[in-house]
Amino acid sequence: MSMKSDLLKDAIKKKKAETREEELSYLRFLESFSGVPRGTVMVGTRVVWGFPHIPRIFTLERGVERNIKSRDVYIEEKIDGYNLRIARIKGKIFAFSRGGFLDSFSTEKARELRLEKFFEARPRHILCGEMIGNTPYTKPTKQFDVKFLVFDIMKEDGDFMGCPKRYELIKKFSLESVPFLGKFKSDDTDSLKRIALSLNKSRKEGMVIKGTDRKTIAKYVTPNADIEDIANGASIYLDMPPGFFYQRVLRSGIFVKEFALDKQKYAQRLGEAFYSGLTKVLKEASKGNEAYEEFEIVIRDTSIWQHIRDHMSRGVHLEEVYRREEGEKTRIRFRKKYRKTSRSLKAYLHGKGITD
Ligand code: ATP
Repeated sequence: MSMKSDLLKDAIKKKKAETREEELSYLRFLESFSGVPRGTVMVGTRVVWGFPHIPRIFTLERGVERNIKSRDVYIEEKIDGYNLRIARIKGKIFAFSRGGFLDSFSTEKARELRLEKFFEARPRHILCGEMIGNTPYTKPTKQFDVKFLVFDIMKEDGDFMGCPKRYELIKKFSLESVPFLGKFKSDDTDSLKRIALSLNKSRKEGMVIKGTDRKTIAKYVTPNADIEDIANGASIYLDMPPGFFYQRVLRSGIFVKEFALDKQKYAQRLGEAFYSGLTKVLKEASKGNEAYEEFEIVIRDTSIWQHIRDHMSRGVHLEEVYRREEGEKTRIRFRKKYRKTSRSLKAYLHGKGITD
């Protein structure tokens, strides 16, 4: 891929791209435009291509057969965090979100990861991975602060490195990878099914299946993860897009059928997921409290907190729970309060009627 200047002007005029002045002056594509993917970032002539969607499969055997064009498949755990692209630009490390924003929180964390050696050897390559842990977007943990698990290395032209080469570089530069679950023949359905069942049992999100050259790829998610998402989503019910629940019910249903799992048990768990989340938030609402989720971050540069506030979506209100100095760093625990769920439930519990 390459980028012509007429295309850039056109994209800006049509509001498909915008320029931003932050630690870097950069341009981001808000949407896909003329073959340039959403989330693509430009700094001068340097392009960091957007990270493409990964096709989802709903059924394992047929899904792999139709989507993966490779004799061998590489299976990795699908990690439930948020997507980052980390690049070295003008000698400094920067982390970009899926939408192409320069993410100051993730950039601070990325600079602590000791990626210099990798970028010395591969200055124009981009590390794509999932960040998890104590971040503004993922479930807090006491076990570690944050982790960045690499799942792809993107070359300058936007193409990805093949799987064997990526694993080799990850090892050579002591990077942390998403868990590798094995290499199999693509028609070795028994092994793939065994992995899917074991991921489901251990409550992991799912797997990503990649062809050797990484040109074909598919994601496959477990019903236990779907049900857990539903339980979490139900506690902020009215702030979730309806498709969130609809998709997960469908997917988990197909998995339960394909693997002949105990339908009764899953039916009960699915119902409980909806009701447990809803009961939790209704209890809060009846006490006059709002619907919220809690997060925790540890930051060196406290201006990052303001940056997080500025970038929060409109439907969410941030509230600090506590703040503590820890040496050179500051730990902040905060709540994301969800306006729509909070307001609607409060009104319904106070007897509001609606015509539907
Ligand atoms: P889409 O694939 O359409 O972008 P999405 O943004 O809703 O979907 P998910 O459905 O969670 O995201 O799945 C895709 C994402 O999974 C990737 O963008 C990546 O951030 C993440 N991911 C986690 N583990 C892996 C892995 N092992 N390989 C590739 N991607 C992974």
